[in-house]
Amino acid sequence: MTSATPGDCLFCKIVGGDIPADIVHETERTVAFRDVNPQAPLHVLVVPRKHQPNAAATTAADGEDASALIAAADAVARAEGYDSYRLVLNTGADAHQTVFHTHLHVLAGRAMTWPPG
Ligand code: 5GP
Ligand code: ZN
Repeated sequence: MTSATPGDCLFCKIVGGDIPADIVHETERTVAFRDVNPQAPLHVLVVPRKHQPNAAATTAADGEDASALIAAADAVARAEGYDSYRLVLNTGADAHQTVFHTHLHVLAGRAMTWPPG
């Protein structure tokens, strides 16, 4: 399944407060919470409050949400003391997207390799 409606979407439930999460940052457009399976000392997911399956569904009308995600990610990293970080938007199953509500991974606190695996 490559999409989810808000009613059965894990991250919509976190945004709505129906499933607990360690929320670290909130704006009018975004919610950021710690990843349950962190891959770095800092691993936070920033999601738009508005359901969207992934970045491929972004249109020009979503421009403010897209910029808000990046601004929130930067705010989270800096609040945790990092000015060097990696942002990842896995888009589609082959890119290892497993939750189909757009989420921007914010990873920091260890040396990153390139290219990613
Ligand atoms: P993806 O592979 O789709 O890019 O990333 C999904 C991320 O969501 C994974 O890093 C996974 O650990 C995280 N995740 C999955 N379920 C939950 C959950 O219930 N709570 C939180 N906080 N993170 C989750
Ligand atoms: Zn959703």
